[in-house]
Amino acid sequence: MTKKNTKSVQKTLRTAGPNIDIQDCNSVYRAVQTSWNDKAYMFVEQFERNFAEYAGVRYALTTSGGTGALILALASLGIGNGDEVILPDMGFYGCANTIRTVGATPVFADIESESWCIDPCSIEKHITKKTKAIMPIWSYGNVPSMDDIMRVAKENKLAVIEDACPAVGSYYKDKHAGTFGDIGCFSFQGAKIMTTGLGGMLVTNNKALYEKAKLLNNHGVEKDFNQLCFGYSFDMSDINAALGLSQLKKIDKLVEKKQTIYKTYKNTITKPFLKFDSMTRQVYSGDGGIYIVPASNCWMNGVLVKNRKKARKTLLENGVDTRNVFYPMSSFPMYKKKNNPVSYEIGYHGINIPSGDSLTADQIIYISSVVNAL
Ligand SMILES: *Cc1c(COP(=O)(O)O)cnc(C)c1O
Repeated sequence: MTKKNTKSVQKTLRTAGPNIDIQDCNSVYRAVQTSWNDKAYMFVEQFERNFAEYAGVRYALTTSGGTGALILALASLGIGNGDEVILPDMGFYGCANTIRTVGATPVFADIESESWCIDPCSIEKHITKKTKAIMPIWSYGNVPSMDDIMRVAKENKLAVIEDACPAVGSYYKDKHAGTFGDIGCFSFQGAKIMTTGLGGMLVTNNKALYEKAKLLNNHGVEKDFNQLCFGYSFDMSDINAALGLSQLKKIDKLVEKKQTIYKTYKNTITKPFLKFDSMTRQVYSGDGGIYIVPASNCWMNGVLVKNRKKARKTLLENGVDTRNVFYPMSSFPMYKKKNNPVSYEIGYHGINIPSGDSLTADQIIYISSVVNAL
């Protein structure tokens, strides 16, 4: 590698990036040393308890990732062949895959232009006799219209599986993401607000669903290798859970940093921009003050540009890493193109800009200036 290249690589401002400190390292070190044989699940069990308490939910089950949690959620609700599940067209493509994995059919509804989350009116238009569930996505950590979604679900007797994968620390009216529907799913993949390396969590208030998900995640085996039904294995190891446990301890700080990054972008970017603070909430700080903060954890910022390919090239030349916002899933060759205008507008013109934990205010202002000059 030439000297010039090394420099440009070092200087690139990344879209994501974790916050790893000495406590995180010590926690993992302890797990590697001690988490074996009869102590193999000590950190897993503690992480599940602490996460359930943090999210305000009865049961939490660690998984190998958000995707595994979503598959378990669908399977636990008995969704399979011949069933339809409604999800937003513009969202993480893996969601449609999870629905296909259990043999059901994904049905793509449009999104709202401000939140980039599923539009409840569009959900209603896509309900058929075969519809069994709605899978709203807390896209980029943002907040779906949960009251309306739950109303549509109730009126039509549909299950709700919340893909809250990127939304640890996001709320709708003071209730944590993932706790409205039958089951909520989270991801702790390396780009997310808190990480376990790879990993995920399934949460529910329904004991029967929790027991079912647990059984299915153990190959359908109850105990002593006695298999009761078909199953999966999306387990998390204690080594990953140890990192999750120490990350969760500082989640308020991680969310505050993301919200500060958003606020700085919001004050400096002049292009159409993903709005994270349509909904707000009050938080009480240690010093007795009350602050109004976005209801969203502001995980990853997004901006709309005219020519995405050109814009991303210019940004990279200026040391700014970006990602495409997700294409509408219905645009992929496995599906039929749909008339979901908002999903297609945002899915083809959106880019995610650097939102990692280590960004400084000066760097954000610099990125804004490059974006504004596009
Ligand atoms: C990250 C993410 C996932 C997938 O999580 P993994 O842990 O990578 O399997 C699913 N849905 C959304 C919305 C995500 O952001």
